[in-house]
Order: sequence, then structure tokens, then C-alpha cells
Amino acid sequence: MKIAKRISRLGTETAFEVLAEVNELRAKGRDIIALSIGEPACATASYIKDAAKEGLDKGLTHYNPSAGMAEFRKVIAGYVSTTRGIPVEPEEVVVVPGGKPIIFYSILACIEEGDEVIYPLPGYPIYESMINFSGGTPVPLRLREDRKFSFDIKELRSKISDRTRMVIVNSPHNPTGGIIPKNDLHEIAELALKHDFWVLSDEIYSRILYEGKAESISQFPGMKERTIILDGHSKTYAMTGWRVGYGVMPKQLAQHVARLVTNSVSCTATFTQHAAMKAMLGPQESVTEMVDGFRKNRDLIVAGLNRIDGFFCHTPSGAFYAYPNVTRACRKLGFKTSKELQQFLLHKAGVAVLGQQCFGTRCKEDDQEYIRLSYVSSEQDIKEALRRIENSMANTRLVEQFIDELRAKEAIST
Ligand code: PLP
Repeated sequence: MKIAKRISRLGTETAFEVLAEVNELRAKGRDIIALSIGEPACATASYIKDAAKEGLDKGLTHYNPSAGMAEFRKVIAGYVSTTRGIPVEPEEVVVVPGGKPIIFYSILACIEEGDEVIYPLPGYPIYESMINFSGGTPVPLRLREDRKFSFDIKELRSKISDRTRMVIVNSPHNPTGGIIPKNDLHEIAELALKHDFWVLSDEIYSRILYEGKAESISQFPGMKERTIILDGHSKTYAMTGWRVGYGVMPKQLAQHVARLVTNSVSCTATFTQHAAMKAMLGPQESVTEMVDGFRKNRDLIVAGLNRIDGFFCHTPSGAFYAYPNVTRACRKLGFKTSKELQQFLLHKAGVAVLGQQCFGTRCKEDDQEYIRLSYVSSEQDIKEALRRIENSMANTRLVEQFIDELRAKEAIST
């Protein structure tokens, strides 16, 4: 079978593979607590579901413009103007099925063969995948634990070259929960103006923040013209499966992105957009309640993780992920990488987490191990998961047995 070469450059999101593994184990009757999933566990609020039903009943079942329904783009423009403090026109908004397509489309539209794109490592794996797919050169910027996983501006400066075409920022950040302080965003903005690059600002977690207000790089003078804001309903309104997101970008780029929508999916589902619009216009208590619940879960999981021998976890400022350093635990128990710890916890403790390999290609100089735990579940599940992790790691015989099995499998495959 002849497959185009470019497909070999396309990466993936291995979280979906872990999800398939969890489902398989559950189908065999195993009791698995999934802390691997990047989505709120709560149901979409009923006023939003009612709006979708109303949309279906009203006949919103046909195509709509590729850039999105006019009323919805207007509502989004108003919302982004207010929350980011910038004037946004509906023509600068493109509605897409989820936030992810904005990464796909904007990189396809802005990056040429050999252009360099600086992106956070660890980071959402689709950045690296799409940079490679577009023929661009990925330039990772390591987010360091001692900076609470924020950008190191000095390091960023050293990565900028005359080929830098785009910098991707994601604050609050997946997988670390870190944020980029306003001063640092300002410095990144100044670099963008000086070196003339795009900023793809992934703000999908902007409403899931535990202190203060979310800051967008688009607020700084001259930045609206070179920023692509990615946001959407997946996380804020617990609507991951509905597939609604949007990008805010200069009009000219918006027209190209809308053409990519025409060429790929035609448009985002019409009744879904209607419900998503009502989600923004309706009561926001469900969002506040959800974030209050996440805050409690965050405090519970961070305290629990810090009690586990060999783990150290910073308190994340946003999103719903804990990202403990597990290097000491891995070394002590004999796991070569956090991926092996991930497999051990899934198969022997019945807890699904993600190792750091899920968040971008590792740098050579990176000798630390991390895992990501999503704290969207119930308090009871989080407590039980922590208990299972602690007990399984303290069970020397179980650890040795797992490592023996793993090394035997490796021996066969080499
Ligand atoms: N950006 C980041 C940082 C994410 O974590 C995710 C989803 O996990 C997305 C974008 C994509 O969101 P969506 O599910 O709306 O496509």
C-alpha cells in the first residue's frame, strides 16, 4: 500500500491509546480508576442540553457558513472582547469542531517548510505533531519545574532565530497546570513584535484558574494583529464530546482558516453551535461550581501525592492536572521511565495516569520523570486512587514481579 510520506510526520495523542487500554481492561471486568482523561467528569449543564434539543426542533440540522453561524460569532466576539480587553469583530472569529482544529488549521495556514516553531515541552502533543506535519521545524522550549513550569524568557530568547515563524503559548498549561505571569507574557509580546512572529495562544483552560484572572498575550499593543487565540467549550462547559471550539485571529487569516474548514468538515454542527451560544449567554454557575470542585480535588490530590515516597508535586494554578516529579520513586523501584510507572499503575494498581512521554519528544538533557494525573473525578475516586498508588508502590514483590515481566517482554522483542 502506498501512503504519502507526509503521513509519517504526523504524531498522535497517546492519551487516546491509554483510554482504549482502560476500556479494554474494564471490558475484561477490571476495576480501573481513570485519572488519565483530560475532560471534566461532570455532565453538560441541562440548560445547554435543552438548547441543543430546541435547536434540533427548530430545524437547525442543515449546513451553516464555514466560519460559523453569524449570531454565534457575534456572541464569541463580545465574550473575547470583554475577557481579553481587546476589540474583536465577528469576522475575526472562526468556529470549529473543538479547540484542536485551530492548532491544525493555523499551523497549516502559517507555517512553511523549514519555518521554526517554538512550543512548550512538556506540552499538548498536537503542537509537535502538527509542526512536523506542516514541514516546520519543532523547537521545544522546556518548561522547568523550578519555574513552576512557566516560560523561561531568557531561554526563549536564545531559541529565537531568523526562521522563527511562530511561538505557541498555553496558559493555564496542559499537562503541568502552570501559568505564564502577565509580565512574562508582556516580554514574549515584545519579542513577537521585534522578531515578527505569530503567537498561537492556547487559552482552552482560561476559565479553569484557581487564583486571579486569566491573562491573554493578545492584550498587549500590536499583539492582536499577530495572535491566534484558541478557546472553546470542551473544558469550560464540560462539552468535550460536542466538538465546539473557536479561533480569534486577524480577518485575513480567518478567511484562509474558514477555507480550510470548507475543504475539510464544511462547518461545525448547526444545532451544536446554537447550544454553545446559549451556553455562553446562560447562567454561568455550573462553571463556577465545577471549578470550585476542581479546586477541592486539586488540594486533595496534591497533598496526597506529596505524601507518597519519591513523589513531589507543585500546586497547579489552573487546568485540572497534577504533574508530580516521580524521578526518585522511579529510581528507587527500578522503573527506567515514567512510562513504565504508568504501565505498572494501570496493570497492577488499577489506576490510569499518563507518563511524560505523552507530552512531546523528550530532550536529551532531560533526566527527570513526571506523570500527569487528571483530578476531575469524585473525591472518593481520588482518595481510592491515591491509596492504590501508595499501596502498590510499597508492595516490593508486586513491583519486582512487574519489572521481571516487563524485562522478559523486552528481551523477546529485541
Ligand atoms: N489545547 C489543549 C492544551 C488541550 O489540553 C486540549 C484538549 O485536551 C485542546 C487544546 C483541544 O481541545 P478540544 O477537545 O476542544 O479539541
